Amino acid sequence: MKSRVAKVCLLLLLGAIVNVAVAWWCVRRFEQHLQANDRSVYTFGPDQAVTIDAQEHSVLLSLDWKAPQSGEFFTYVTERADCIGHGCKVGFYTERWQSAKTGPHPPIRFAGVPVFAQHVEGGWPCRSFDAYRFFNSRQGTYFSTTVHRVVRGIELAPKNSTFAVGVLLPAHPLWPGFAVNTIFYAVILWLLCAAPGRVRRWRRIARGLCPACGYPVGERDLCSECGSAVKPRRGKLEGSA
Ligand SMILES: [Zn+2]
Repeated sequence: MKSRVAKVCLLLLLGAIVNVAVAWWCVRRFEQHLQANDRSVYTFGPDQAVTIDAQEHSVLLSLDWKAPQSGEFFTYVTERADCIGHGCKVGFYTERWQSAKTGPHPPIRFAGVPVFAQHVEGGWPCRSFDAYRFFNSRQGTYFSTTVHRVVRGIELAPKNSTFAVGVLLPAHPLWPGFAVNTIFYAVILWLLCAAPGRVRRWRRIARGLCPACGYPVGERDLCSECGSAVKPRRGKLEGSA
């Protein structure tokens, strides 16, 4: 029983490691690709309302920006784009927000510097990690500006001269996706590791052989070859491993 619990824990731990590796691989491989090709699944224009969720809300609260309630509808005064695909989602958030209830909000700032935000999520089959990166919005576009601050992530060095910034690896778990992916990979690892042995056991039992060593089972409830417990069979012995 104890060893079974330990096995499940080990599988879940390995599943979590695979989960992180896949999320980072997706982001590293596809995040800038998504931006470069503008594979936007949906894009919000200037006057389209979006809802601020609890995740974004908690991040905005951690800034010196007066964040409104989560669930409140917002207009992004300039633009917002979300690109989804290949196990990543990349969102851009401008500095100016306007609430339907309370009117315009001040720009998001870090220590007085106005910033625009990039939100990155990664993971497959669910997105399981996220991070934010804030750029100084007074210095130009995404391609030319400097990163002002990274929240909940690890920034890699730029890969080439096309991008001024490196890939942002998300390090903050999105719990529902994290749990689903971890169990998903743990089950796959279990299938890869345990299933062949289990199938062999079943086949041996079906053929009247000792599941442990493959020796034909006799009329005793212990294997005469290896001594492990077996189901005694009636009648003649037959077959071989
Ligand atoms: Zn045996």
